[in-house]
Amino acid sequence: MRRVPEPILQVRDLTVHFYTYAGIVKAIEKVSFDVYRGETFALVGETGCGKSVTSRALTQLIESPGRIVSGQVLYHKEDGSVVDLLKLKEEEIRQIRGNEIAYIFQDPHASLDPLYTVGYQIAEAMGVHGKVKDIKEGIKRAIEILRSVLIPDPERRVKNYPHELSGGMKQRVVIGIGVANNPRILIADEPTTALDVTVQAQILDLLERMKEMYKATVILITHNLGVVAEIADRVAVMYAGKIVEIGSVDQIFKNPLHPYTQGLLRAVPNPMTKIEKLEAIPGTVPNLINPPSGCRFHPRCPRVMSICKEKVPELKEMEPGHFVACHLY
Ligand code: SF4
Repeated sequence: MRRVPEPILQVRDLTVHFYTYAGIVKAIEKVSFDVYRGETFALVGETGCGKSVTSRALTQLIESPGRIVSGQVLYHKEDGSVVDLLKLKEEEIRQIRGNEIAYIFQDPHASLDPLYTVGYQIAEAMGVHGKVKDIKEGIKRAIEILRSVLIPDPERRVKNYPHELSGGMKQRVVIGIGVANNPRILIADEPTTALDVTVQAQILDLLERMKEMYKATVILITHNLGVVAEIADRVAVMYAGKIVEIGSVDQIFKNPLHPYTQGLLRAVPNPMTKIEKLEAIPGTVPNLINPPSGCRFHPRCPRVMSICKEKVPELKEMEPGHFVACHLY
């Protein structure tokens, strides 16, 4: 019998706007998806499509001039209770953020404080959530964590400042800080983008290792379909602040339904064939102050119909677990 996946996070109609001098940027509009316990769920799309805003909004990490306008983020806790993370007060969400739900941000140089040793920074991440009683215990745990993220000679490295480490090692420390409190959900926002290609594969391996070790659920934010194919179980494709397709990696890669997903996949070079010209999706990403009416992809869509300019397509389930928002279906 097929096991019914248990949700750990249910996002419903999440909408975030940024109130700028130029106008209201509708960064994400009515974004809904489920994340299941123990899976790696990827949010994929071009730069500016709203995937990072979505990931940050999950724990209210939206700063002014941004505002979470509406929606729910239902978090299924270990004890079986469900809370809407958007309704929690700042001190309540702080108990969860960095603890039960932790982030790994894109740029390890910006994520670490240059003034403190990496050992201190890992110890501090645990200390603020009461996971260690003093700095001595924190440093001892930091050495174990550095070992688990495969940093050689952790007893020496724990005393290093960030500038003494390579980019890849810094990202390992950032992942160490992410897992320090044994999170249930790990949100990795473009974890390999700022790194050399040679180090990227090692960091992806490490993420998988951490997921197994800490039995965590991973939400991966990326523009890189190669990364998605390698480590994700399910994928949500975002375009201009909306989710346009959700499915398993197999469904999305073998049977993409949305014209945007099809275009994205055609734009990935195939190393097995000779490429005369790399395919690109014509046009540019729309301005989200004044997004296109109806389907936001319509100005670039090769299969646009008149209804597409008038009516916003809703996500529909086409086969079990495979959803698409497009008037073709
Ligand atoms: Fe293209 Fe219309 Fe589908 Fe949008 S709804 S992707 S414009 S066919």
